[in-house]
Amino acid sequence: MGTSFISLNDLKRNFAEVKAGMKHKEAIEESNRCLYCYDAPCVRACPTGIEIPSFIKKIASGNLKGSARVIMEANPVGATCSRVCPTEELCEGACVLNHSSKPILIGQLQRYATDWAMNNEPVLFKAGASIGKSVAIIGSGPAGLSAARELARFGFQVTVFEAKDQAGGLDTYGIVSFRLPQEISLWEVEQIRQLGVDFKLNTRVGVDITAESLLNDYDAIVLAVGMSKVPMLGIEGEALTGVFDAIDFVEATKSGGDLDTSLIGKRVAVIGAGNTAIDAATCSVRLGADQVQIVYRRTQAEMTAYDFEFDFAKMDGVEFRWLTAPKRIIGDENGNVTALECVRMELVDVDAGRKRPLPIAGSEFVLPVDVVIKAIGQTRHESLIDQFELTHIRGTVTVNPETGQTSNPKIFAAGDVIFGEGQGEAMVVSAAQQGKQAAYAIYKGVLIAQNESA
Ligand SMILES: Cc1cc2nc3c(=O)[nH]c(=O)nc-3n(C[C@H](O)[C@H](O)[C@H](O)COP(=O)(O)OP(=O)(O)OC[C@H]3O[C@@H](n4cnc5c(N)ncnc54)[C@H](O)[C@@H]3O)c2cc1C
Ligand code: SF4
Repeated sequence: MGTSFISLNDLKRNFAEVKAGMKHKEAIEESNRCLYCYDAPCVRACPTGIEIPSFIKKIASGNLKGSARVIMEANPVGATCSRVCPTEELCEGACVLNHSSKPILIGQLQRYATDWAMNNEPVLFKAGASIGKSVAIIGSGPAGLSAARELARFGFQVTVFEAKDQAGGLDTYGIVSFRLPQEISLWEVEQIRQLGVDFKLNTRVGVDITAESLLNDYDAIVLAVGMSKVPMLGIEGEALTGVFDAIDFVEATKSGGDLDTSLIGKRVAVIGAGNTAIDAATCSVRLGADQVQIVYRRTQAEMTAYDFEFDFAKMDGVEFRWLTAPKRIIGDENGNVTALECVRMELVDVDAGRKRPLPIAGSEFVLPVDVVIKAIGQTRHESLIDQFELTHIRGTVTVNPETGQTSNPKIFAAGDVIFGEGQGEAMVVSAAQQGKQAAYAIYKGVLIAQNESA
């Protein structure tokens, strides 16, 4: 193991936001490049349908409040999305200027306008006049927040139940601070709190309050609990000291207080190759690890991390071991991790579908490591879903894709809780859009009921 010298101050600096925001002159120049296309493809490519040419034009004319309002109107977590959306696959990927020069830097401009709002404009929207109906939202990630914002603007009395001590879900606790500082997400929460939405923090539905009581006390429910912990690998050695769940690991770096310095000089293996794995790996680098390797049983072509995340990890010096699966975590007599036994894999055509990775007999080898971080996906909140007696497939709640309505007409679901089984995308922007859709469907239901009784 090499020796590293890194101070706590260095580590804290390491967690500061990596990408600088645009300067005024850059923002003006970039916004003036936009062609303000009619029926703009960038708008169609944005899951929340932000009127991109409109917000860009407002930047060009110096109306930053108007610009931020256009963004946040369509996307209640638009400041977060400006930092975490895979823009090259969404709006920027669709920009017509890809054919001639380079796309407009839509994400950066979005950040410019929302940063201005964060620094200058306390509240962007107002609550609607009361319509005498109440909604309980379970979970305060982007899906729950987005539903809460829209329902409050329609005049519903909204209560958000959140298990953690701060709202914002993975935006607050899961996406690494050097890509998304916590204050961005907390500003979005504050925008919604200012509309009169009641946040009941440290309240886990199904434990601290029953599903039944919510069904009795509210006119509608939005289930927006996301996904849960990383599943077990099912191999020997998972209980050893030095084995972490990637979500808990990243959360520890975002939760404030002193950063954990225990990775200084250590060798880390991260298992999995999605965005969570990359975040855990780049966090490890910033916590002073000497060597960080991502161990993945398939190849680069099958990894699910966004391209920008992959590039980011490579720039951080993270190494990738493709076609490699963990077989056993090895520890010393004190119960600390010392190595990871792996086996080489090959991709085999089993049927017409995705090729399956199978171990190559006798190819086992040992990687000396001090820390193993598991990032092989997330389990589901099945017990809570069962308490509401909702139809689901292995924890993915079944919904009407247009409205988010579940098998119980009073309950709507949005965000990661409906992702999976070939349905949806686990992205902040999709969660935000689904939250909006659930809110619109609930409001429409109220209007229909009012018309029928008139
Ligand atoms: C490490 C990591 C990195 C990511 N990076 C990106 C990225 O760069 N770009 C991107 O677009 N997406 C990214 N994602 C995915 C994105 O964060 C999710 O798709 C999105 O947050 C889902 O939103 P949600 O509101 O459905 O759930 P969450 O954000 O998970 O929020 C759910 C909330 O519900 C609460 N909750 C759960 N159970 C209960 C209960 N019983 N009672 C009360 N509250 C409860 C939770 O505490 C949580 O606050 C990343 C995810 C991870 C894990
Ligand atoms: S497609 Fe590109 S050029 Fe056209 S409006 Fe959108 S950002 Fe501007």
